[in-house]
Amino acid sequence: MAGLFSSSSDGKKVFYKTDEEIELIREANLIVSKTLAHVASILKPGITGQAIDKAAEEFIRDHKGRPAFKGYNGFPASLCVSYNDIVVHGIPSTREFKDDDIVSVDCGVELNGYFGDAAFTFAFANVSEPVMELLRVTYAALYKGIEQAIAGKRIGDISFAIQNYCERQHPYGIVRELVGHGVGRALHEDPEVPNYGRRGKGHLMQSGLVIAIEPMVNLGVKEVYQDTDGWTIHTRDRKPSAHYEHSVAVRKGKADVLSTHQYVLEEIKNNPAVQEVSPKN
Ligand code: MG
Ligand code: MG
Repeated sequence: MAGLFSSSSDGKKVFYKTDEEIELIREANLIVSKTLAHVASILKPGITGQAIDKAAEEFIRDHKGRPAFKGYNGFPASLCVSYNDIVVHGIPSTREFKDDDIVSVDCGVELNGYFGDAAFTFAFANVSEPVMELLRVTYAALYKGIEQAIAGKRIGDISFAIQNYCERQHPYGIVRELVGHGVGRALHEDPEVPNYGRRGKGHLMQSGLVIAIEPMVNLGVKEVYQDTDGWTIHTRDRKPSAHYEHSVAVRKGKADVLSTHQYVLEEIKNNPAVQEVSPKN
């Protein structure tokens, strides 16, 4: 789940984690990662968002986790299921997926008092090449951001890396209103992690900061609007939007990625209804 951008964020909730806490956050993220893989294994045209949400909730509870999104500010489901022009925070519905849909599945889990958060945008078999390119670029942008999540750098270095990479590829719209965030003892902590910004600005990162990095990138304009349901975020021009997310611990020299898409990518290989997506080279 993404954070809502707030210009008044005061940085009071920046908690640095101990090595022991980071291992607990990794364990929560392992359930997140395996839940996303379970979703990857059952995705097919005709299945509904509600069906994958139910399967995910069962999977999370079977692994002794708690679905962190369910009840968060009143959110009604365990997953955010955001297809096509929905950027993020889609409420799982009874709409059946089609073979040319893309769908961002965002999952959060609490385990032993610590939170994990990750997302993956899936592509069904008949998604067009320009939209596949949007997915590859957004996915690569996630790793451009992660490369900057090292001690001594600032949040703006992550933000700039994501924005600069995307905008050098294509005239995509980088969403402003929703941001990555600190994560660990709560689902959303400070600092905010925008997907656009200036190098050398923002919170100075030290080892032990854990953040969710989550580029949200639109094929068309950057502007979005919220549905009357109070959650669902759509692109203003109704063109598709992509979203990839990892929870990451800031370390000296190299970030430690606490969630993994490894299981998701393995399941996609075994599911002919879903196209492989890898970060653009
Ligand atoms: Mg998320
Ligand atoms: Mg998030």
